[in-house]
Amino acid sequence: MMECSEQDQKRKRVCRRCKAIYDPLANASDACRYHSSLFVSRRHDDQQRYYELKPDDPPYSAKFYDCCGAEDPYAPGCSTCFHVSYDDP
Ligand SMILES: [Zn+2]
Ligand SMILES: [Zn+2]
Repeated sequence: MMECSEQDQKRKRVCRRCKAIYDPLANASDACRYHSSLFVSRRHDDQQRYYELKPDDPPYSAKFYDCCGAEDPYAPGCSTCFHVSYDDP
């Protein structure tokens, strides 16, 4: 006999975008916060902003999200959408 909570666990999916474990029944259009592009390591596209690592800069200061320019790898996502499971097409 299966516990109700076990069924809940079985239903849970891992979002392939943000890697969060979520309940498909509770999925919403703003449930998933993510960056639409990758965290890259190069100059900004405008070529205006050069990065020079200063002694007390974090090692990733020359990197940023290609979508929004956020320079913190832990910056909250700039886009929201439904979570997407690995089972989804
Ligand atoms: Zn972004
Ligand atoms: Zn997600």
